[in-house]
Amino acid sequence: MYNEKVLQHFKDPHNVGTMENPDGYGEVGSSECGDTMKMYIKVDDNKITDIKYQTYGCCAAIASSSIATDMALGKTIEEAQAMSKMDIVQELGGLPEKKIHCSLLAEDALKEAIKDYKSK
Ligand SMILES: [Zn+2]
Repeated sequence: MYNEKVLQHFKDPHNVGTMENPDGYGEVGSSECGDTMKMYIKVDDNKITDIKYQTYGCCAAIASSSIATDMALGKTIEEAQAMSKMDIVQELGGLPEKKIHCSLLAEDALKEAIKDYKSK
């Protein structure tokens, strides 16, 4: 069902954890497979210098958030905001059709965290 890259990120996800006093925090959930995601970002000079997340969800949600945080790290706020779920899916080498919505969660959580950062 999942390709090798997805499974690798699922087994050994990157950037997992929480953050004390993040500059931005976002939390989103999906009712479809019960995934929830919390995203924390540190921003310095308009760049994402640290990013952590916690995901409770399926393989696709965990792999998506792992690769999305890898992609967002070092990006400017504008670049990170422009990332879409299709960028994430492409970077993963594809996801099963019915699991695409799980990658949307990673995009949404990141955007929520950026929104929170901008509101401060
Ligand atoms: Zn899912």
